[in-house]
Amino acid sequence: MIDDSPLAVEMEVEGDFPAEREPPKIQRLEESVVNRIAAGEVIQRPVSAVKELVENSLDADSSSISVVVKDGGLKLIQVSDDGHGVRLEDLPILCERHTTSKLTKYEDLFSLSSMGFRGEALASMTYVAHVTVTTITKGQIHGYRVSYRDGVMENEPKACAAVKGTQISVENLFYNMIARRKTLQNSADDYGKIVDLLSRLAIHHNNVSFSCRKHGAVKADVHSVVASSRLDSIRSVYGVSIAKNLMKVEISSCDTSGCAFDMQGFISNSNYVAKKTILVLFINDRLVECSALKRAIEIVYAATLPKASKPFVYMSINLPREHVDVNIHPTKKEVSLLNQEIMIEMIQSEVELKLRNANDTRTFQEQKVEYIQSTLTSSKSDPPVSPLLSGQKTQKIPVNKMVRTDSSDPAGRLHAYLQPKPHNPPDKICSLSVVRSSVRQRRNPRETADLSSVQELIAGVDSCCHPGLLETVRSCTYVGMADDVFALVQYNTHLYLANVVNLSKELLYQQTLRRFAHFNAIQLSDPAPLSELILLALQEEDLDSGNDTKDHLKERIAEMNTELLKEKAELLEEYFSIYIDSNRNLSRLPVILDQYTPDMDRVPEFLLCLGNDVDWEDEKTCFQGVSAAIGNFYAMHPPLLPNPSGDGIRFYTKRSESSQEKPDLGGNAEMEAVLDQDLLADAENAWSQREWSIQHVLFPSMRLFLKPPASMASNGTFVKVASLEKLYKIFERC
Ligand code: ADP
Ligand code: MG
Repeated sequence: MIDDSPLAVEMEVEGDFPAEREPPKIQRLEESVVNRIAAGEVIQRPVSAVKELVENSLDADSSSISVVVKDGGLKLIQVSDDGHGVRLEDLPILCERHTTSKLTKYEDLFSLSSMGFRGEALASMTYVAHVTVTTITKGQIHGYRVSYRDGVMENEPKACAAVKGTQISVENLFYNMIARRKTLQNSADDYGKIVDLLSRLAIHHNNVSFSCRKHGAVKADVHSVVASSRLDSIRSVYGVSIAKNLMKVEISSCDTSGCAFDMQGFISNSNYVAKKTILVLFINDRLVECSALKRAIEIVYAATLPKASKPFVYMSINLPREHVDVNIHPTKKEVSLLNQEIMIEMIQSEVELKLRNANDTRTFQEQKVEYIQSTLTSSKSDPPVSPLLSGQKTQKIPVNKMVRTDSSDPAGRLHAYLQPKPHNPPDKICSLSVVRSSVRQRRNPRETADLSSVQELIAGVDSCCHPGLLETVRSCTYVGMADDVFALVQYNTHLYLANVVNLSKELLYQQTLRRFAHFNAIQLSDPAPLSELILLALQEEDLDSGNDTKDHLKERIAEMNTELLKEKAELLEEYFSIYIDSNRNLSRLPVILDQYTPDMDRVPEFLLCLGNDVDWEDEKTCFQGVSAAIGNFYAMHPPLLPNPSGDGIRFYTKRSESSQEKPDLGGNAEMEAVLDQDLLADAENAWSQREWSIQHVLFPSMRLFLKPPASMASNGTFVKVASLEKLYKIFERC
């Protein structure tokens, strides 16, 4: 970044130069050094060499490309194609820097349809490896072979027998870059990355057949044949189990404001289970990465599907060539797009719609699977295949209790007897175990989220939703934090202050209900003892501690609450993923929004609230109470440490004891405010973390999921501060 402010200049002038040091002499680097440095940027690791070579083969109109790799690519990378080959007269400059057949003038960059254009890849390889090219062009009876080093031919091209196309071998990669070679040798080898790369290319370029194998291996690890459809190519490369769980997505936007693009792709449905997202993204046929899009899609999955699986997504986006800058990254793995944010939002909504629609049909599928599973397979050796079953907590339930809820055993199916009277409210004075068993009865064979009590709570949220606020939340833009609690947001021409604490509390409450019994877990690194935490919360509530009888009372209350929570541990674990171990320690909490963990300083207050404020007797109020407590705990409250920016900094000054103990050395010791640097760093970290979460987790998730209740229109959650038209009028007069 160039900083040309006068301040920067002044600082440089006054900066501490070591007094005696002469300015070092500036020398011109040898060209070979320059080239090697540049080459190291283009060819960062074996997989980048493979990518460049395969892209060259694609640019040469090949219909078959095969790759052989030895020693993770460090010993040998060999790419053979059946493309148009290289002319004999071009061989002398083939590997010189900036020689290309794809670009003649700068403007061509904006109408480019080839993968390469800089004429750097082959040259770079010759600076860091030994490159041999064998090629034949159409109509020739023999081909030529020639080796290169440092950009030039090592010998005259030799005539040789050749099959159609070009074969390029890159040997001893980074032989002259010791450090790079060492790190690569130590890191896991690149072969996996190469296989991944070719798999991705193979599903997009399905008119080309790809193969990739290790040197000496008979079997190829990627083997694709020319496929008639995209889904066929995904099936042949990634396997049937992925292909059968994909849904087609499409967008065609011809927005006149300049956001014109087409998107076609496949996304995984709720039956697909994986720990890592796979996003295979092509923009104008270039394989690229886009972390913003990846995150946007992950957020939709995390919140829409009950079982939080990471998705598999293949997407091909086409947009006018002039809207893409392909020249922003040394290995071309990133591109810059015009209107990227609008595009991402449109894609996000489409994916969400698809998932929601599919979710409705899912219930039926699941029911069928579960029924077949439980009636037809009784052998213990058969592990459940459905991701639904394998991911369910039901497996942990002791066998004797399972019988009651087993749909294959009508004798134990209590709910069959209860069904004729579905309107009977549960007995108000029933104990927890009754709540639990009534829950279990209705669980089978449907998911727990189908419990009518939870459904009623969700319906309650939907019916209180304020349509105007919903529209505002969906389309507003986050401007920034106005103070510790209010964010400034813009909606159309209006500016609002939005209370992020209220908003996040409500969002987290609603999401807890929607993901009921399907949470991923956050494992606490240190299990936290319940009774100590509750005691802490009680002491914080009451500043008058030190009073013996009161303290004794608090200990008793803490003990009782701990006992109560221990009793409810099974329910808390099963439905809310809050895990209390046998030693009465809290060790797991639920993930409510992906990429967000609550402020652990609020755990004591949360536990006290679970003990004190939840009505455990009635199923619906119990679930509501726990969800509200979670919402309150996870809400984006200001961190407990005061905000160090601005006035709050004074909380971080230490009483300078050192100035009293030490003799006064310089005379101005007592003037210096000593800051508690550790505490300050903690505070800065907490505040910036929170702001990041507000912008990148809260607002995007709110747009997708929050149903703002009508009460938010009047309770100060949204306050209109200005209308831009009015401001405009004021400024116009000035
Ligand atoms: P770029 O791809 O940016 O043009 P490269 O260094 O990758 O630069 O390649 C230089 C030139 O070599 C290409 O423009 C192309 O004309 C030729 N070339 C490279 N690989 C092949 C190949 N497999 N088949 C035919 N021509 C090739
Ligand atoms: Mg190239």
